[in-house]
Amino acid sequence: MQQKLSGIAASAGVAIAKAFVHEEPDFNIELRNVENADQEIQLFLDALATSQEELRVIRDKAETELGADKAEIFSAHLLVLNDPELIDAVKEKINQDKQNAEYALNEVATMFISMFENMDNEYMKERAADIRDVTKRVLGHLLGIKAQSLATISEETIVIAEDLTPSDTAQLNPVFIKGFATDIGGRTSHSAIMSRSLEIPAVVGTKEVTKQVETGTLMIVDGLDGDVIIDPSAEQLAHYQTKKEKFERQKEEWAKLVNEPTTTKDGKHVELAANIGTPKDVDGVLNNGAEGVGLYRTEFLYMGRDRLPSEEEQFEAYKEVVERMDGKPVVIRTLDIGGDKELPYLDLPKELNPFLGFRAVRLCLEEQTIFRTQLRALLRASAYGNLKIMFPMIATLEELRQAKALLQEEKAQLQKEGTKVSDSMEVGIMVEIPSTAIAADLFAKEVDFFSIGTNDLIQYTMAADRMNERVSYLYQPYHPAILRLVKMVIDAAHKHGKWAGMCGEMAGDEIAIPLLLGLGLDEFSMSATSILPSRSQIHNLSKEELSSFALEMLQLSTADEVEQKVREHFLNG
Ligand code: PEP
Ligand code: MG
Repeated sequence: MQQKLSGIAASAGVAIAKAFVHEEPDFNIELRNVENADQEIQLFLDALATSQEELRVIRDKAETELGADKAEIFSAHLLVLNDPELIDAVKEKINQDKQNAEYALNEVATMFISMFENMDNEYMKERAADIRDVTKRVLGHLLGIKAQSLATISEETIVIAEDLTPSDTAQLNPVFIKGFATDIGGRTSHSAIMSRSLEIPAVVGTKEVTKQVETGTLMIVDGLDGDVIIDPSAEQLAHYQTKKEKFERQKEEWAKLVNEPTTTKDGKHVELAANIGTPKDVDGVLNNGAEGVGLYRTEFLYMGRDRLPSEEEQFEAYKEVVERMDGKPVVIRTLDIGGDKELPYLDLPKELNPFLGFRAVRLCLEEQTIFRTQLRALLRASAYGNLKIMFPMIATLEELRQAKALLQEEKAQLQKEGTKVSDSMEVGIMVEIPSTAIAADLFAKEVDFFSIGTNDLIQYTMAADRMNERVSYLYQPYHPAILRLVKMVIDAAHKHGKWAGMCGEMAGDEIAIPLLLGLGLDEFSMSATSILPSRSQIHNLSKEELSSFALEMLQLSTADEVEQKVREHFLNG
């Protein structure tokens, strides 16, 4: 039956093929009393050995086909299988309680899984998923259940599953597996991450795709817009075929630019950086050839948990990012909580206007213990790469000076303790409050860089709440008022020999890019998938020509007029 489902676009591209519904085997685990414990232990050890052998094969295959970092997950699985704590606990249950091997293993694994899941640490939570995955494999051998092997699929197929485990995903051969769609999962679930590195179009979190599709049904996975079309009509097929071909041609062109510098037609270099929320996002940053991280929103480290992250936990996350970026710049923003981002465990009083309230650096300067912990973690991580610190929501010079003074104090303290910190770390601010944009020349003397946060700068300049869709028409990045503020910030930075970047959504917008280039922006930070299309656009623009064009745009009356002109001149109407 023809049907369209929406989910989360996990991996870009369009796939058209017949479905293969991958079902989880039904492990019916019953408690039995075993008489010969030694024999039962041997069965368990044999199942472990067979699983290890399988995992080694999958790991080696993943290493050659996907690279060493993707294969690591299977080394982690092998470690679980070799873990004496787990093995001994199972053996003990068999020996002392006379339990059958599958029951004993399931009990022990469930206990470890819930222990890891309840830990406060993302890394440990992922270990729970590893144990679950490995346990299924061993149980399959113990129960003699032959799991369907995705690896043996040898015709063009779209895999449909409730979710795919990392080992399922690694078995997908991109030659035959054209796409996949799952019921559960989000953009950062393991299966989604793997699908991006395999470059298999994927839609996750459709909630019900397994219920609606049968093996053999023709279907379309649109990983660009997050749609799944089941049993498409001839018209839909033609439409998606065209969409697929267009995207593939475009990707081939973009891919050529991964290792290219971002230079304009007249040979001027600008930096294209990526915005990230967690260390995991670095994969996308590197795969898309970003020249740095222009905004690391650290608040995600503080969210989805019940207490503040420790200095150590933060240090590990920041260090991981700077190390993986291998000397490329990484701008880490200090905590920006408040506004629409709440931390329930801080128990802050409700405010009438949270976006105009106790937010970001305002909160950090008051709650100094929280701030100092983060500063220490950042300073320690600065010894491992090219880390730059950025303070959000700076409205006055006093705030900046106070934040810098605390940073200085923590640096001195760390040095006194003999801890290594970088000596050349740049310190900058986000320019997202109109007062700071207007007085940018005063700030420029006391910072190393500016990064313009247009998401907030526009909401404050236009007095239009960014969360309220009834006033969303006032989100006008091309409004001459906004362009003039942007120019003031860039000019002030350059006058004092500093650089100016932008990390709001505007930086990756194809209409804004010609204007920002013309105004002299040095760094553009955007979502990783916008990097290559933006680089391709910039290659065709001349900075010289754009500088007079941009000045003309500042004199137009409305955002619409500006947009029209940019379209006419640079985007084929
Ligand atoms: C901005 O305000 O433009 C910005 C990048 O910060 P956030 O969206 O996190 O407020
Ligand atoms: Mg902001």
